[in-house]
Amino acid sequence: ANEREQFQFQAEIQQVLHILIHSLYTHREIFVRELISNASDALNRVQFEMLTNQDVRDPELELAITLEADKDARIIRISDTGIGMTRDDMIKNLGTVAQSGAKAFLQKLGEANPTNSSEIIGQFGVGFYSVFMAADEVRVTSLSYQPDATAWRWTSCGEATYTLEAAERSERGTTIEIVLKEDAEEYAERWKLDQIVRQHSNFVAFPIYSAEGDEKKVLNQRTALWRKQPREVTQEEYNDFYRQTTMDFNEPLSTVHISTDAPVDLHAILFLPSKREQGMMRQIPDPGLKLYSRKVLIQERNEELLPKHLRFVQGVVDSEDLPLNVSRETVQSSGTLRQIAKIITNKITKEIETLAENDAEKFADFWREFGPYFKEGLVTDPGTRSQIEPLLRFHSTNGEGLTKLSEYVERMKEGQEDIYYVIADNVETARRSPHLDYFNERGYEVLLMHETIDSFVISSLRDFQGKKLRSVDDADIAGDDVELEGSLSAATLGQLGDRIKELLGEQISEVRGSKLLRSNPVRLAAPSDDFGRDMDRIRRMMGQ
Ligand code: ADP
Ligand code: MG
Repeated sequence: ANEREQFQFQAEIQQVLHILIHSLYTHREIFVRELISNASDALNRVQFEMLTNQDVRDPELELAITLEADKDARIIRISDTGIGMTRDDMIKNLGTVAQSGAKAFLQKLGEANPTNSSEIIGQFGVGFYSVFMAADEVRVTSLSYQPDATAWRWTSCGEATYTLEAAERSERGTTIEIVLKEDAEEYAERWKLDQIVRQHSNFVAFPIYSAEGDEKKVLNQRTALWRKQPREVTQEEYNDFYRQTTMDFNEPLSTVHISTDAPVDLHAILFLPSKREQGMMRQIPDPGLKLYSRKVLIQERNEELLPKHLRFVQGVVDSEDLPLNVSRETVQSSGTLRQIAKIITNKITKEIETLAENDAEKFADFWREFGPYFKEGLVTDPGTRSQIEPLLRFHSTNGEGLTKLSEYVERMKEGQEDIYYVIADNVETARRSPHLDYFNERGYEVLLMHETIDSFVISSLRDFQGKKLRSVDDADIAGDDVELEGSLSAATLGQLGDRIKELLGEQISEVRGSKLLRSNPVRLAAPSDDFGRDMDRIRRMMGQ
């Protein structure tokens, strides 16, 4: 008997669906991109299965995606010959969320304008549900790659429930049938659908066919862009590729294309994103590079190829020298992979150094976004110091721009032995610090530290090119023995000191006359070489 069983969506999914169905969207055509991206994932997975597992249903099927549209019935169909889903897979994948994706999505929506939700939905692992922006009803019919599996159909109108029933399907893969809402009928127009695919899914690695009866035409370009010679690729193509693979609407700040066959065969396209936040509500892109072996995707997010402080880099790495049936474990222990990691890390580091040398403005933008990654790298992994030190930049009293430590050292005045810094909550407060009087007068440059992590950076660095990093509030900075006009007499100073001590009591240890002050009446100094001071500041910053 063909029983139809009803199920409830998990609570978070119900909320996501409610928002998707009851809001109006500016970009709702992205549901096509989300479904094609799922089909492409499913094809990647079955391709991987076929390399590692003998027992796959219909091994001879072409790996492809097919689109059909029926304008009169307001129906579109997106089919793939991918990995397919069993009944259990459907319950798990199309009814619950494994990750906290839906929750994170809802939280973000709560913080901002929901009309932009279509821009971000794919990044929260709830991409499939975006189809309900345009659908009255969705039917998913699927046959898993597992030889003993049977076909199932999942149906929902996007309210609280979905149904499951046994289905007829003889070939491996999945078909998503979408009954469009009345106001979304344009998506059943063939030209419209074709245009959306070209715009959003041009670089999908499998052919996307537009089918009408027996006629079929391929819509996407399907080139592995990274396999081309760099001189054959335009920046526009790189930008399109970036946009379609990362779903970041911003253009990349910088593109690195590596194509070489020695010492290893390596084809890679890597991007420095221009922003950490991708648009108003976007998250930081997930770390990891797509790893291909001979054009087959073997890992979606490989995080071992780049050091942690470069984890914002996005892109694709492909090599003929990796064994095809490589498993995750051997990927990590492979010498080839280590070689590749070294090459791409050096290339990216060089790219960033070149940017710093040739385009100060662009680099300042980059540093504002990603500087904290490098600082964190320096603090957590001392082994990266030599890579990171030349890139460090700070604001300073030498103008508005950013200062490099080596430039600071070059500018040091005669008699100046240390590198001075002041820490404050922001650059402006740092610039107004009363401690600066003395240094300004002598023309000593002072670094203005203002990021939470800067205290840690100082504790990690300690010195640079043999020069000690020294805080301007160090009590041991004595000043010159000069008689300043308008100075208090020793007696008055003594009385004033007693009075202050009386008022502040245990909060201070001592009141001293200072030769360092000019236009400010007092400065709060700390015992020098007091490591506790750094820790105090860190604790204060963390609100403890
Ligand atoms: P994500 O793609 O980020 O995992 P989605 O909401 O887009 O999230 O899809 C949810 C899950 O549904 C996928 O992870 C996959 O397991 C399953 N799925 C969706 N479409 C297909 C398909 N065409 N073939 C096989 N599985 C699919
Ligand atoms: Mg998806």
